[in-house]
Amino acid sequence: MILMTVVLIFLFGSSIASFLTLAAERMSAGRSIIRPASCCNHCKRPLSWQQKVPCFSYLLSRGACRFCRVEIPARYFWLELFGGFWALFCLLHWGADLWEALLFFWLGIGALLLSLEDLKDCTVPAAFLALILFITMILSLGRFFILGPLLFLNLFFIFAVWQSRSLGEADFYLLLTWSAVLGARELAKILLIACLCGIIPALRQGKETPLPFIPCLSAGLFYSLVFSSI
Ligand SMILES: [Zn+2]
Repeated sequence: MILMTVVLIFLFGSSIASFLTLAAERMSAGRSIIRPASCCNHCKRPLSWQQKVPCFSYLLSRGACRFCRVEIPARYFWLELFGGFWALFCLLHWGADLWEALLFFWLGIGALLLSLEDLKDCTVPAAFLALILFITMILSLGRFFILGPLLFLNLFFIFAVWQSRSLGEADFYLLLTWSAVLGARELAKILLIACLCGIIPALRQGKETPLPFIPCLSAGLFYSLVFSSI
């Protein structure tokens, strides 16, 4: 029974990670996240349900498409693996309140995916950011701190820029949302850790090259989630 629960929670976490990876890729290209259904990026043949089981399908197919044998990027596997273990961690940590466990799972997995987008070219797809923030808002209903009302302002702005393909100031909107969910003390901690993480890369790069700051913020968020008694 315990083993079955662990497997189910792992599959839940890795499936969400898999979906968000697909959503980030498609939204950055301005494509629909619903159609077409999951398919091979190379031969475009739709995946069977066995090929959609996160992590395990990658291992069974040895990291290649079953039809055309084109290699599947290993990052899909690692993201799904992280999603699975992060879901298990959240359940262990906040299992007394499943809604809270789900909220913190979503904060973590969203931060990771946004970080990867930011690392590509210092922008994130506006629609993808809006998706992450909107679901964060739904999950955090009843948990808003003093900055809560700002969250709605934030979301309003995000939806207003929905039509623009990418957003360079995403870190600001992300911080605003986290502050509404986590409170000012945790926000200060996150900012401090983010600045410490960003100092060395910023000094190396110089003023002209923009610094992807969401990964630094995410490092602060994970520290806060894992080591603080939120
Ligand atoms: Zn293929």
